[in-house]
Amino acid sequence: MSVTVRFAPSPTGHLHIGNTRTALVNWLFARKMGGRFLLRLDDTDEKRSTAAFAEAIQRDLAWLGLAHDLFDRQSERVARYDAIAQTLKADGRLYACYETAEELERKRKRQLLRGLPPIYDREGLTLSDVDRAALEAQGRRAHWRFKLQPMNVVWDDCVRGLQSVDCASLSDPVLVREDGSYLYTLPSVVDDFDHGISHVIRGEDHVANTAPQIQLFEALGATPPEFAHHSLLVNVEGGRLSKRDGALSLKDMAEAGFEAMAVASYAATIGTSDPIEPHQTMSSLVAQFDFAKLSRSPARFDPEELALVNARLLHGRDHGAVEGELTRLGVGGGEAFWLAVRGNLGTLADARTWWDVARGPVEPVIGDEAEYCAAAAGLLPPEPWDGNSWSQWTASVSEATNRKGRALFAPLRFALTGQGRGPELAAFLPFIGRQRAEARLNGRKV
Ligand code: GLU
Repeated sequence: MSVTVRFAPSPTGHLHIGNTRTALVNWLFARKMGGRFLLRLDDTDEKRSTAAFAEAIQRDLAWLGLAHDLFDRQSERVARYDAIAQTLKADGRLYACYETAEELERKRKRQLLRGLPPIYDREGLTLSDVDRAALEAQGRRAHWRFKLQPMNVVWDDCVRGLQSVDCASLSDPVLVREDGSYLYTLPSVVDDFDHGISHVIRGEDHVANTAPQIQLFEALGATPPEFAHHSLLVNVEGGRLSKRDGALSLKDMAEAGFEAMAVASYAATIGTSDPIEPHQTMSSLVAQFDFAKLSRSPARFDPEELALVNARLLHGRDHGAVEGELTRLGVGGGEAFWLAVRGNLGTLADARTWWDVARGPVEPVIGDEAEYCAAAAGLLPPEPWDGNSWSQWTASVSEATNRKGRALFAPLRFALTGQGRGPELAAFLPFIGRQRAEARLNGRKV
């Protein structure tokens, strides 16, 4: 079977970690199966969709590394939806209703009061041509509902397993509004049909739409696709995600300095049985993708975990993968400097911070170790320095001062870098160089 999937965001906001997961699961599955990935903009809501968001979505997906094979936007396909709506009306599957929102709400309350399920009573179906003409004459406009068959709809969800929904317990969904615009269901099904979508992969907030959509596929004479509904994201406390839970949009994550591969690794592994860990390449994520690994319980979004994945990704990153970015940040020292500092980075920008520590100016922290540091300065070996210079130097300092361990090393680190923690000095010292090292050990800011 040839696989075609689609990611179908509405361009009404920026991509966030939630729909990024949906995009990724679709993309990974397509790549795994040698299939195609369609980016479809669900932009029928003219009031809320903007060209700027449409562009931002494409930019953010490209940043993440999710190239699409096909592209479409719903706003250009309205004539097709109109034609399908006409057919459904002719077949008696789409029928006109005239209730206002308030009338529907009154009906709902009355049903609940009688202990009945609040399902639309299909009054629209009982209207004669004369009734309809009279309503139209009052200035009322019809909205259109899809007539569901009162039967069980069953599908084998790739994530949730066998699902069965009794459509007799559902209201006939509204497909067309009073102003003739379409709600999401009809355009989505028509597009999935026309694009030959083999698998609809999306968040489980759409589970309730699936049975009516399957009936709509069937009404169009189409075989419904497979469905996969992944669980949704919650915050660390298990509650709804909100802005307070940290950088949620891809844009914010990029601005916070997170690597695209860290975000992709995190988004692809939370809520799965795989360990949450950095992957250096997309192909590594593709290789391990499997619907069977997706958990049915909500996935927890923890910004601290994401930060950790980002740091660990950098700790294992090859110089070649970051070379261009380091140049842009003004970080020198080539591969040797990268290898010296990568284990101490939270974000790539921290490499610049360490470069500045190496090149100065740095305010040395000497405290009451001035005598010791000055003595150590006197023992600095001549340049050129390499990875062994540090151990040669500290061995001679130890011999001359009888110091060992922390007492030997900590004052040197504080004097040389102005702080108590940082990269291994064996690798880092050559970038400070003899002149700066000697000056800092003597308490001078250079
Ligand atoms: N535009 C819909 C959404 O963003 C698409 C849902 C679907 O995948 O069917 O929720």
